[in-house]
Amino acid sequence: MGVLKVGVLGAGIVGLVSAEEVVKTFPSADVTIIADKFLMDTTSDGAAGLFMPVLYNFSAKTDDLTREIIKESYEYYSNFINKNCGVTEAYGFLLSDTTKEVCYSDMLSTILPIYRDATEEELLEYPGNWRYGTYVKTLITKGRNFMPSCLKRLKESGVKVIKKTVQNINELENKFDVVINCSGIGAAELFNDTSLVPLRGQIVKARSPEVDKFILAGEETYIIPYGHGVSTLGGTHQLGHYDTAIRKHDTQGILNRCSALLPQLKNTQILWEWAGLRPYRHSVRIEKEKIRKLKVIHNYGHGGVGVSTAPGTSKYAVLLMEEMLKNSKL
Ligand SMILES: Cc1cc2nc3c(=O)[nH]c(=O)nc-3n(C[C@H](O)[C@H](O)[C@H](O)COP(=O)(O)OP(=O)(O)OC[C@H]3O[C@@H](n4cnc5c(N)ncnc54)[C@H](O)[C@@H]3O)c2cc1C
Repeated sequence: MGVLKVGVLGAGIVGLVSAEEVVKTFPSADVTIIADKFLMDTTSDGAAGLFMPVLYNFSAKTDDLTREIIKESYEYYSNFINKNCGVTEAYGFLLSDTTKEVCYSDMLSTILPIYRDATEEELLEYPGNWRYGTYVKTLITKGRNFMPSCLKRLKESGVKVIKKTVQNINELENKFDVVINCSGIGAAELFNDTSLVPLRGQIVKARSPEVDKFILAGEETYIIPYGHGVSTLGGTHQLGHYDTAIRKHDTQGILNRCSALLPQLKNTQILWEWAGLRPYRHSVRIEKEKIRKLKVIHNYGHGGVGVSTAPGTSKYAVLLMEEMLKNSKL
């Protein structure tokens, strides 16, 4: 058998962490990342990066696998806390004025170091009719810092990078033995997956030195510290919208809701705005598929929690890759 040639399609957080897992598992493989967007041009760059993977009903094929993915991912990022690559510990509240389910998860309560009910006094600190709340210690991973450091490590370990748009997966057939597909929302068109849809999210980065905790209030409103006196204010969840241009009325809605929650934000300075497309699917797709001669491992459809869950899904994707290679002659 010659050198194993692995292509990783996509350079968002899922592609980079998958490439890293391939290098770890197959140190002598020849690994190439192919993507048309890198770093600041990806969705992963703009994400708030809060580790809260039960939002948006993230699920894998089974509950056990979902749990394993979340646990693996938390452990992975924990190794990078305060190592100058954008991973920090974070404390904050999940609030709900309707049901407890919006802000409580049995699964997360056993993975995160602090996960307890908010007290009456804590609920009263925030204007609104907050009936349920959870106080949490978790992590924030800033894609803008984490991805460059990850890409640097990959290049140092010999991973190659090609900037190109793949129009048809068959283009990669004679170039690689196996391709890990981490193309995010791009998979909808490339693999004709009609169950993958964009969930548009717009955010505002605002100057907010007073914000030291994150607050997720209901399903739409969030304030998440971004470091250096800046916060991410959100958000929107617009299913089926492909447009990433900034919408003024979304900005106004975000500012109104966030300043109602935290009046100190009333005259906050907007630093920049951004909109991205969460690759939303009923369940993340981590599967093997043979397309003509090419072995493909899919790893996409992480919805609104791709930064949080990428390490765990990538570990499982590479496990499937090992299985697929064992069962076939190259
Ligand atoms: C407003 C907002 C806030 C968010 N906040 C959080 C959060 O707090 N926590 C969290 O965990 N997640 C969050 N997310 C979700 C997170 O951003 C996504 O789940 C994650 O970025 C998906 O990563 P990805 O690598 O699959 O996709 P992407 O980052 O979109 O990367 C896809 C890659 O595939 C490449 N590609 C696609 N098609 C092709 C093709 N045909 N040819 C070549 N290359 C191709 C692209 O160039 C790119 O490199 C948020 C998202 C939004 C929009």
